[in-house]
Order: sequence, then structure tokens, then C-alpha cells
Amino acid sequence: MNTEKISDKKKEKILIIEDEQDIAELEKDYLELADFEVEIENDGKSGLAKALESEADLIILDLMLPGVDGFEICKRVREEKNTPIIMVSAKKDDIDKIRGLGLGADDYMTKPFSPSELVARVKAHLARYERLLGSVPHENSIIEIRGVRIDKTARRVSVNGTEKPFTTKEFDLLTFLAEHPNRVYSKDELFREIWDMDSIGDIATVTVHIKKIREKIEVNTAKPQYIETIWGVGYRFKV
Ligand code: CA
Repeated sequence: MNTEKISDKKKEKILIIEDEQDIAELEKDYLELADFEVEIENDGKSGLAKALESEADLIILDLMLPGVDGFEICKRVREEKNTPIIMVSAKKDDIDKIRGLGLGADDYMTKPFSPSELVARVKAHLARYERLLGSVPHENSIIEIRGVRIDKTARRVSVNGTEKPFTTKEFDLLTFLAEHPNRVYSKDELFREIWDMDSIGDIATVTVHIKKIREKIEVNTAKPQYIETIWGVGYRFKV
């Protein structure tokens, strides 16, 4: 049965690996009320398989499970993924043991716990994880072409190791051209791409900015090696 609802925001998925059906259902009810999508696996083996294959955003993992236990599942998941894991156990001693093992779980809860506390912790870990992902520079955040290095995350440009000051529009224009190398853009196209439609200025603004960028990145502005002028057409970033 397909119970998926159409909604603007994609629901975050929580995987519960728990052999006590009542507890699993209670957790599920509370998480669904908080607008999460929830899946339950009742034994260790299927739980591990699901944890490895699914796109769960967070895993709630019981420690004592038939088949494969929570220790092993946590360890195996960590070898492949950074998905946040909240481990739960009926025994306080076990929680201490898990901590000691440093398996990489993000949080630990001792049963019985209040379902609303669980929901609060789930939300906190998802928010933390998203911040963490957001702060990791994407692979394509650095463009490096023959000594010119553009760091899109830090919005910095250096030329042969020396940092050059760039204004916002100069940076945007250089980055745009460098991201579309060897393609010729007219001044009109560049103006529309980089400046807001209602901003003051015209295509002469583009010329002025190209000149300023060249002064910062070119050895000889009369013979540009990076941004070429294609007469009668526009500019291109040569690679
Ligand atoms: Ca159990």
C-alpha cells in the first residue's frame, strides 16, 4: 500500500530497529506525529540490511536484537555511512559499555524513555547533521585554472598563491566565466546573469568589471591569458 503523501517538503526518514513491537510502534506513532516518515525492522539481520541499503536520515537502534546485535549494526553502518544513530538499551550498564567502545553512535538513551524526549533528540541530531553537511565544502567549490584559484565557499581569489581583493560583482563575474570555460558570452548576457534586472548600469558596467578583473589576474592586461575579448561578440574564459 502506498501511503506516501504529496507534500512540498520531503519528509525525513527514520529507521527504527527494535525487536519489541510495542516500543517500536510507540516510537513510530510519535515520530509520525512530528511529521517524519518511519520504517521499522524487528530483527538485527533485516535491520542491518535495511540500514545499509536505505536512505534513512537517522537510525534509532536497539542494542539487544535477535540475529545481529546493535553493537555490530552500529559498527557496520559506521564503516559506510555517517547517518546519525541513536542507540537505545534497557540497561544503563550497556549504555556505558557502548560509549566505551566508541562505535560512533551519536546518542544513547536508556529505556524506558518518554517518546517526546526521543522526538526532541531526533530533531536535534538531524539539525546538527544538516549543519555539518552544510559546512563541508562541496567538491566543486574550488576552481583552479593555471594559477588562478577561486574558492567559491570563502569567496576568495588568489593568483599564483597571492590573494587578490575582489568586489562582489567582480567575484561573481569571474566565477561565472570560469565555470563556463571556452564559451563566449555577450556583454548583454553577462549583465543579465550577474546584475539584477533593476540594478543601475548597463553593459558598459561589464566592460569596466572585466578590466578590473584583468588587472588582478592577468600578467599583461594587453594580452589577456584568461579572459579573452572576442571582438564584436563578447568575452570568454580560456582554458
Ligand atoms: Ca531488544
